[in-house]
Amino acid sequence: MAKYIFVTGGVTSSLGKGIIAASLAKLLQARGFKVTIQKFDPYINVDPGTLNPYEHGECYVTEDGAETDLDLGHYERFLNIHTSQLNNVTTGRIYQTVINKEREGAYLGKTVQVIPHITDEIKRRMLLIGKEGGYDIVITEIGGTVGDIESLPFVEAVRQIQWELPEEDCLVVHLTLIPYLKAAKELKTKPTQHSVKLLSQEGVHPDIIVCRTERSLSKELRRKIALFCNVREDAVIEASDASTIYEVPLMMLKEKLDVICLKKLNVTIFPDPDLKEWKLFLDKLKHPKSVVNIGLIGKYIELQDAYKSILESFIHAGAMNECKVNVVNVHSEHLDDQNVEEKLKELDGLLVAPGFGNRGTEGKITAIRYARENHLPFFGICLGMQMACVEFARNVLGHQQAHSVEMDDKTPEPVIDMMEEQKKITNKGGTMRLGAYDCAIQEQTLAHGIYGQTLIQERHRHRYEFNNRYLTAFEEHGMIASGKNPDSGLVEMIEIKDHPFFIGVQFHPELKSTVERPAPLFVHFIQAAKARAHQKQKTEAGALAAAARS
Ligand code: GLN
Repeated sequence: MAKYIFVTGGVTSSLGKGIIAASLAKLLQARGFKVTIQKFDPYINVDPGTLNPYEHGECYVTEDGAETDLDLGHYERFLNIHTSQLNNVTTGRIYQTVINKEREGAYLGKTVQVIPHITDEIKRRMLLIGKEGGYDIVITEIGGTVGDIESLPFVEAVRQIQWELPEEDCLVVHLTLIPYLKAAKELKTKPTQHSVKLLSQEGVHPDIIVCRTERSLSKELRRKIALFCNVREDAVIEASDASTIYEVPLMMLKEKLDVICLKKLNVTIFPDPDLKEWKLFLDKLKHPKSVVNIGLIGKYIELQDAYKSILESFIHAGAMNECKVNVVNVHSEHLDDQNVEEKLKELDGLLVAPGFGNRGTEGKITAIRYARENHLPFFGICLGMQMACVEFARNVLGHQQAHSVEMDDKTPEPVIDMMEEQKKITNKGGTMRLGAYDCAIQEQTLAHGIYGQTLIQERHRHRYEFNNRYLTAFEEHGMIASGKNPDSGLVEMIEIKDHPFFIGVQFHPELKSTVERPAPLFVHFIQAAKARAHQKQKTEAGALAAAARS
């Protein structure tokens, strides 16, 4: 039987519930427990797949093709496990199931209501993963902030589960904010008291309070929070700002969050956590021996969360290379032939990001041309690969009007075309080519050197593909398809031979990068950027020495 930990949030959003949940899970995993995390989101979209990145940040994709909240990315990166369709549930999905059942006549003439029908479906899904996955502990993060109208049914479901299960089988962690008032020079506990009161009014009493704070909590303050929120003093946990999210598990270890949880769950014997690998990673992350500047070309660069998995993959790959990856955001809409040299000349590598729609694509193509012609390490992901093919068709094969039919459905040279099976689909939600697919890698290619394997699986999220009609011409001119899907023949990876590192992938390697297993493509891309930076330094030093001699 699994035990359940629920994580709620109070006072404000963006407190980092996902990171706290993932950190707690990491500690429990490091103590030998089999743990997973799931997220319940109160919005009505069936999944975040149709949401704009401005609304919801990156859309994360699991191995089995679920389009999910970006917190699932943190869970996978911290725990080094795969999540699935089961790990992210929205209000929309709950209602969809209940309404479908009502249409089937499953409720036998009863009035279908929020309580019990919606809450029963929430409870069923909250407990399902624990029953099916053989986990010791299931952590469930409730999205949104306590007090929101839309999260009420979720909190009610937690209340009922607490009432139904033995007391030692579940607990609630409430994450809250302790703001510092500069004028008063004081940390304030009142918002926390109010949010705990709100939660209690909804019938759920937290067992542990995790306090996000800019300043350290004094003993008196912890006592005050414990007294007014009715929890034990050792159950008031300080979560101060960290220099990196990967430090949070160690901060929570110091605060004994995992031990307090295990005691409440009546697990009294447990081994010390094994965090050797984690600490090694942190050590490398904090003490880099070199630095590279990588340009991230995209149209959502002003938005921290839009390229979350890519940024985290740079952190993993950077640590592995003992190198600080300085990401330089370059807005694709502001790039053109006139300014490209100026904007990209200091870079050691260029990553062209995934995306949808026409906006910013000409800037991406301009940047890719610069990288190809100047031997700057280039890495294109999904749309980034597609635009590399368009650039090659235009500037090497001479097809000036080449494009992807996504951007120009009348192009006479559709080097990127809609996938055959996509042509009859009209619905937008959950209908792209999603999840993990095989990719067969050709030997004696850059891709093969990077993966060291001839068959890999990577995750996808796209509707368009390389048009194989152009493959012979591409290969004759030096751009080869080094990876293909063995069943459909879809081009999954392209590369240019006569270039230090020019690689484009139709899949999303960033979705499988974890602290323990950084994505090989990112590791090698950073290596190539390091080599370029090193070469640049040598040339500059040589020029200086020559100038001094003359
Ligand atoms: N818009 C492109 C497609 O649908 C690329 C998608 C992506 O970059 N994820 O094929």
